[in-house]
Amino acid sequence: MRLSQGQLNLLERCPRLFQHTYLEQISSPGNPEQQERQTWGSHFHLLMQQRELGLPIASLVQEDTQLQCWMNAFASAAPEILTPDTNSQFRESEHCRTLQVQDYLLTVIYDLLIADDLAQILDWKTYPKPQNRRWVEQNWQTLLYPYVLAETSDYLPEQISMTYWFVQSEQPQSLKFTYNNTQHQKTGQKLHKLLNQLTYWLERYEQGEPFPQVAAANKLCDSCQFATRCDRDNNSDLFQDSAAASTDILNIATIQEVAI
Ligand code: SF4
Repeated sequence: MRLSQGQLNLLERCPRLFQHTYLEQISSPGNPEQQERQTWGSHFHLLMQQRELGLPIASLVQEDTQLQCWMNAFASAAPEILTPDTNSQFRESEHCRTLQVQDYLLTVIYDLLIADDLAQILDWKTYPKPQNRRWVEQNWQTLLYPYVLAETSDYLPEQISMTYWFVQSEQPQSLKFTYNNTQHQKTGQKLHKLLNQLTYWLERYEQGEPFPQVAAANKLCDSCQFATRCDRDNNSDLFQDSAAASTDILNIATIQEVAI
């Protein structure tokens, strides 16, 4: 089974959500606002990939002045990323790596990998920078991306970093996470534990037992598309604020890498 960071996030948040989404492939189209954000995100990723490949981007940005504006803002905020040192760097956009752990193939796609003495993993996010750095730090993308690079290359964990760029703004912002051997060991343990649980749940699922649900009072259920299916659609208005927050978390958790 192939697993991405998005799938690990869902599995950790609610195993039943993982079952509905990935094993049974039940889904509903997002609301128009989500779809628009997703389309914009795809355009930005495509633009960055074309730019990295040295292909013309004028026609892409001409059609969308807002995109052009944010692209210019990003170029001003991070000129070192957009103006490569081609002599000494390995650079590749949409760089894909796979690592086998137990019976699972963990797949990562780096929006941009820049490697020389150090290895920088860069990721474009087309939503505002989250207020809570700790939440991003604990997200499986932040854990898995450096982990896979350390396991599949000669780079030491201390030579690897992961930086998110939140670009949908006239003042793009970044969040950088350095990596080290202690974090690498911790992530390995966390990963093995989660995959052991998944193997156990899959065995039970084959025998007809559904994956576990989160606790009944969990706010995640309030905005989950499977609330009716899970008999969790009767929570009170008291949770409206937290439901909005958990929608954001769910949206971010399920954002997949954009396949170009
Ligand atoms: S409604 Fe709750 S228990 Fe069911 S999949 Fe969604 S988050 Fe999980």
